[in-house]
Amino acid sequence: MTQAISIHPSIDRGLPPASAGFAGGTLVCKCTDRPVKVRVDSQSAHNHACGCTKCWKPKGYFFAMIAVAPRDKVTVLENADKLRVVDPSATIQRHACTGCGVHMYGRIENKGHPFYGLDFVHTELSSETGWSPPEFAAFVSSIIESGADPANQGNVRARLRELRLEPYDCLSPPLMDFIATHIAKASGVLKS
Ligand SMILES: [Zn+2]
Ligand SMILES: [Zn+2]
Repeated sequence: MTQAISIHPSIDRGLPPASAGFAGGTLVCKCTDRPVKVRVDSQSAHNHACGCTKCWKPKGYFFAMIAVAPRDKVTVLENADKLRVVDPSATIQRHACTGCGVHMYGRIENKGHPFYGLDFVHTELSSETGWSPPEFAAFVSSIIESGADPANQGNVRARLRELRLEPYDCLSPPLMDFIATHIAKASGVLKS
């Protein structure tokens, strides 16, 4: 009965594949009055379902859908005055709309961080189709911290596999390797 498990509104019904040559779109928050608009002038990368407690999620869901785009391709177009950083002490500065709570983009300001230069974006906020679809599910165990039933985790993982989103309890192996390689180069363990 894994079909009964809802992962995310954009993922449950299946996502169209990435469009060749897709060059981005405009993210719009949920406010009916003066919505915040953010332009992403690039295709997304590393899109995934994320069960961590920090990512913005649609109400009633334990997973976010989150991807990255180059920070120099992310521009606030309208109503920037409504944005506030959710937690200024966090590695990822999540710029959220104070009206509706949606996170419009997450930015890393630490130049030494492996993901510096990449902004985190929720492509579901855009009406354009052709974004890269999710490739895996990250931080699946963490949904328990948001209130998911630990006894149901087997069903959740089975449903994710059904959706071809391999479940991991951190990031995917290529991204974990990317982070470790960056750290090894920074420390001198790995000569670049
Ligand atoms: Zn808003
Ligand atoms: Zn997350």
